[in-house]
Amino acid sequence: MIKNKIIVIGGGYAGLKAIQQLAKNPDNEIILLDKNPYHYMQTEVYDLIANEEDFAQITLDLFTYCIGFKNNNVTFYKQEVNDIDFNKKKVITTIDRLNYDYLIIGVGARTKFVANVEGLREYAYGIKALHRAMYFKQKFEMSLFQKVEESGTTCRPLSIVIAGAGLSGVEIAAQMASFAQEFYKHNNFLCRKLNIVLVNAAEKILRGMDTKLVDRSIKRLLDLGVVIKNEQKVVALTEDSVTLSNGEKIFMDFMIFAGGIEPNGLIFNLKLRKNMKEFLETKPSLQTPEYETVFAIGDCTTLYDKDNNILAPTADIAEQMGVLCAKNIGLHQEGEDLDIHTIKSRGILIALGRKYATAKIFGIYINGYLAYLMKKMIERAYSKQLDIHSCIGCKKIFDK
Ligand SMILES: Cc1cc2nc3c(=O)[nH]c(=O)nc-3n(C[C@H](O)[C@H](O)[C@H](O)COP(=O)(O)OP(=O)(O)OC[C@H]3O[C@@H](n4cnc5c(N)ncnc54)[C@H](O)[C@@H]3O)c2cc1C
Repeated sequence: MIKNKIIVIGGGYAGLKAIQQLAKNPDNEIILLDKNPYHYMQTEVYDLIANEEDFAQITLDLFTYCIGFKNNNVTFYKQEVNDIDFNKKKVITTIDRLNYDYLIIGVGARTKFVANVEGLREYAYGIKALHRAMYFKQKFEMSLFQKVEESGTTCRPLSIVIAGAGLSGVEIAAQMASFAQEFYKHNNFLCRKLNIVLVNAAEKILRGMDTKLVDRSIKRLLDLGVVIKNEQKVVALTEDSVTLSNGEKIFMDFMIFAGGIEPNGLIFNLKLRKNMKEFLETKPSLQTPEYETVFAIGDCTTLYDKDNNILAPTADIAEQMGVLCAKNIGLHQEGEDLDIHTIKSRGILIALGRKYATAKIFGIYINGYLAYLMKKMIERAYSKQLDIHSCIGCKKIFDK
């Protein structure tokens, strides 16, 4: 029996969803390639920073996950992809050259450290990659501890600047502010000051999002003591200061940059059609315009709705792309017409500190603890369905 060799590059939200569907067909032989041995649940990083979850809870081992499929047709290689030879249908990794019949590119995005901001790359922290988030979390906790040690002598506030007020910047600001409130309350520390400044280039935070959610988020941030600086950009950084476009200089202990993303490095090497920001363009079937057996999904692409508006890149959109792409590979194998995407956001949930969120799901607004519970439920359901495969994989290995 000739099998369909399918290579998936990237074990993120998009790639794993595609694999789950493709693995149901025993005639598919699937290889997952990722430069990391784990799937990183970025949507839960705010809990990592606030010490509510450790890194084991927001990652999933890709080896055991891939072994856990019933048809034994998924294999994981921890290899970084450097290039793709589309004419020879070969994926080129740091150590191998692998053939494919179908290829799915789902390498996600990374923090875009804009080159014209002096000191940005040297002094700002990103949180798109797990190692960066871990490093930042430790720095944050250590800084809080140092402030406690200073108690009784000085009481200099800890100052954190977050540049970028999209979903990730807002969630991190709220989570750090509420974590610090509780941290200082516990044990009744005298020196309790934490300054969080959220720098926002637009007129309002969360540009393009539902106005009711935006207003609720602003209120919550202000209640938590976060200072929002609208219509400002970071223009320069030193080790301990940030200069804004209006000339204001803010002294800070550290800065997180959540001001933009760009596709992961591999995309820059590929001769495929891209938009001005270097994200891959796809047909409505999620095929690349150049090759009918090459698909691109998730954050490394730009997806448009039927009115040609950009769909904000989220895990929700990435997963839906994964499902459609797998379906279309099946249709292509059968020689049938491919489905055209009708993907839209199913809802938006914004975590705003400990046990608090705001949400709009299927058109219904929810706020506060209930929204928080809903976010947790969705996150739990997501990691549970991944864990099922991972646990089976683990059992298969240890029962050998
Ligand atoms: C702080 C934060 C909060 C967020 N909150 C939410 C939220 O609440 N809701 C929501 O829906 N979305 C949220 N998002 C966005 C969401 O995380 C992304 O949209 C989602 O991760 C995109 O999935 P993806 O599969 O395209 O990419 P990713 O999940 O980034 O996966 C890409 C994978 O490709 C791998 N890779 C990259 N380059 C290579 C290479 N050259 N070779 C091999 N492997 C490679 C990476 O290691 C990674 O595993 C948040 C993001 C952040 C940072």
